[in-house]
Amino acid sequence: MKEYDYLIVGAGLYGSTLAYELTKNGAKCLVIEKRNHVGGNIYCEQINNINVHKYGAHIFHTSNKKIWEYMNQFCEFNNYINAPIANYKNELYNLPFNMNTFTKLWSDVLTPNDAKNKIEDQKNELKKEPQNLEEQAISLVGRDIYEKLIKGYTEKQWGRECKALPAFIIKRLPVRFTFDNNYFNDNYQGIPIGGYNKIINKMLENVEVLLNNDYLKNRAKFNDKANKIIYTGMIDEYYDFCYGPLEYRSLKFETEVLKDTDNYQGNAVVNYTDNQTKYTRIIEHKHFEFNECKGTVITKEYPSDWKIGEEAYYPINDEKNNQLYNKYLELAKKESKVIFGGRLGNYKYYDMDKVIIEALNVVERELEDDQKN
Ligand code: UDP
Repeated sequence: MKEYDYLIVGAGLYGSTLAYELTKNGAKCLVIEKRNHVGGNIYCEQINNINVHKYGAHIFHTSNKKIWEYMNQFCEFNNYINAPIANYKNELYNLPFNMNTFTKLWSDVLTPNDAKNKIEDQKNELKKEPQNLEEQAISLVGRDIYEKLIKGYTEKQWGRECKALPAFIIKRLPVRFTFDNNYFNDNYQGIPIGGYNKIINKMLENVEVLLNNDYLKNRAKFNDKANKIIYTGMIDEYYDFCYGPLEYRSLKFETEVLKDTDNYQGNAVVNYTDNQTKYTRIIEHKHFEFNECKGTVITKEYPSDWKIGEEAYYPINDEKNNQLYNKYLELAKKESKVIFGGRLGNYKYYDMDKVIIEALNVVERELEDDQKN
């Protein structure tokens, strides 16, 4: 009999959801986290009464009513709607691609029909089904928008040419022939009032958590403590990169506390879509929560190559990496006592709602197994 039923490695949204649910159902869990705080990448730091999204902006959105209600049990959400602005060489456009964008970009476009015809003309240059992100983007919105609002941003973000990127990445963004700047198509959206930490702290309220502990540096010791392990770190690192490392993108953040302005850019998110500006976006955190305090805090987000030992943010789900991931997955399938999950454990570009859905599915399976045994 071991001390814990589950050892959960990583206190991000995935690990914390599992810890909360398993504990609620009577299991004894220990969460270990290598950082000095819980919350993973949704962690916020309070600076001058502003919740600063330390590891990049997180906007919760979902179309799944169950998941929306699930999140609301931990915290109330405000009615923030994400409507980023794109700055291309000092020209400002609305995102996602919608009638506001089209009419600003093309002076001869006034109606949805005009916009559709314009895009149709521009996509005629493609003779076949889109094979990569560049072709997919042109087929969705035409070459003009691709050149001004997609190419520079995407190539900075992913560190490779749009021609070498999978088409699905750009399909995340809506294209609309209405004057609607809502970045998401989901039914529910918002920012937790009081910040994301409130959610995680509530999830982990009755769970034992060890901070500043790196599981991989002390595997044997920790394995001895629990019957099962839920591992939310990088799957390739778990296996000592035995088939070689998967590729990730990393991010560097430059945060500035501004005292002499209360409103730096008038919006929470401004994307810089040219290829000269080194950062992809500037986040002005106070606008996520309609905070009218004095001063403001902004963060410039610089994408960067990921190297072993650095923080991995985005899995690069192209064919080459997905094939390599499948090799690690084969190893994972042979494990009877280890479950891999979350963005890094599953090597998937998950949004937060998908992370929760996946965690709840695992809990269901675990409880069923428990009943069988
Ligand atoms: N994208 C773009 N221009 C923009 C914003 C996004 O071309 O101004 C593309 C880019 O390829 C990016 C993808 O859309 O990788 C997905 O963007 P999203 O905002 O969903 O990314 P995240 O917030 O997850 O970084």
